[in-house]
Amino acid sequence: MEVTNPATGEQVDSYEADDEDDVEAALDRATETFDSWRDRPLQERTNLLSSAGEVLRENKQRYAETMTEEMGKPITQAKSEVEKCAWVCDHYAEHASEYLDEKGHPSPAGSTVKTVYEPLGPVLAVMPWNFPFWQVFRFAAPYVTAGNVGLLKHASNVPGCSEAIEEVFREAGYPEGAFQSLLVSSDQVEGVLEDDRVKAATLTGSGPAGRSVAATAGENLKKTVLELGGSDPYVVLDDADVEAAAETGAWARVQNGGQSCIAAKRFIVHTDVYDEFLDRFVEQMKSYTIGDPTNEDTEIGPQARESLLEDLHEQVEDSVDAGAELLTGGEPLDREGAYYPPTVLSDVPEGCPVDSEEVFGPAAPVYEVEDEEAAIQKANDTEFGLGSSIWTEDRDRGERLAGRIDAGCVYVNQLVKSDPRVPFGGIKESGYGRELSGAGMREFVNRKTVWVE
Ligand code: NAP
Repeated sequence: MEVTNPATGEQVDSYEADDEDDVEAALDRATETFDSWRDRPLQERTNLLSSAGEVLRENKQRYAETMTEEMGKPITQAKSEVEKCAWVCDHYAEHASEYLDEKGHPSPAGSTVKTVYEPLGPVLAVMPWNFPFWQVFRFAAPYVTAGNVGLLKHASNVPGCSEAIEEVFREAGYPEGAFQSLLVSSDQVEGVLEDDRVKAATLTGSGPAGRSVAATAGENLKKTVLELGGSDPYVVLDDADVEAAAETGAWARVQNGGQSCIAAKRFIVHTDVYDEFLDRFVEQMKSYTIGDPTNEDTEIGPQARESLLEDLHEQVEDSVDAGAELLTGGEPLDREGAYYPPTVLSDVPEGCPVDSEEVFGPAAPVYEVEDEEAAIQKANDTEFGLGSSIWTEDRDRGERLAGRIDAGCVYVNQLVKSDPRVPFGGIKESGYGRELSGAGMREFVNRKTVWVE
């Protein structure tokens, strides 16, 4: 597996991929470790999770540099990501016992019934490159603490991150086999998932990858959680604080180079504030510092791979050809590396790529709508249903309209974000199941009922 630094286009590292024998040995180790790991007292497992948080904090700079080199994330954002991973470890170390508490039930006469949460076994996690640490820890912290063991198939462009995450668990003192990185291609996923030793799978990534993993899992009757793409609406109503909406909206579009499932991807603006919003938004989009992601001042680095930049540019060009007006950006930067500038499009025709597809980069279509009803209609006019944001000075109006948006979460007067304390996930083609909070911890457990007479 070769690693190309997207900031320079140079190959910077290479890793030997795992062959069939390596995978076989990893699955054996996972099964063997699970047999004893599941019986370790929860307190021991949470202590180890706290140690994992410490390892992350101690090595923050090094792990952040690996992310930056492999997928171009600006170093300040990479360091924040490592801190967030430590936070999710702290969160589950503190709350696991409450989330896995045995619950009493109203019982039939003569019996006492309680539900206990037991682990399933080795869980396969297929993960994307865009938040290469966070996506993994938000899976691993709860599920491994619940007594499962983890097998990570990370995106092919971040093998160094994959190995570094395995190192975190090793350094924290976890038994060998509790969390393993498999350096395999996507073609090998089907075989791993079909193996009887693997009990469940979670995938964060694109729709096609999700469908493929869900199909194999379905064929083998294994549970899945899918966290897929999004095209989140960002609705600005006539009574919004337009200055704040424009400033936050631009950042919601461009952070992490625009490569976030929950980035604001379609800006839907009430006609009364449209001109003001558009002016402020374009100015804000032009204001960011783009460049070397290792520089502490950089706000936007390169796209993670040259091919992703090409896909993004094609979406923008095809939308302009279809009649959209380009207000800023729209051409890759004329310099070494996969750099694409913040781009704004207005008068966007229905069905053109930036309207109907997920745009995984810093390009923003802005729509003018007549009223609240049209805003909600446009917000829901997508195959996705991950996040959404509504801007209004009237909290009751915000909460009322939140009830009409088809999405896993709605944020009023905020950008969409994930938080260890709160369930996270989508509906429609954004996937199913939830991560984070107690809901996330209980996705991969056997809710066993125990009846005592
Ligand atoms: P991707 O191409 O689907 O890859 C994600 C992972 O799936 C990688 O490990 C990839 O391996 C693997 N994969 C790809 N095709 C597969 C197949 N047919 N069978 C099994 N595994 C397969 O997605 P990406 O480009 O890395 O990530 C961007 C996508 O992820 C966007 O759509 C984004 O919205 C979504 N995402 C969603 C969330 C969420 O929480 N809902 C969070 C982050 C990202 P290889 O790298 O080896 O191909």
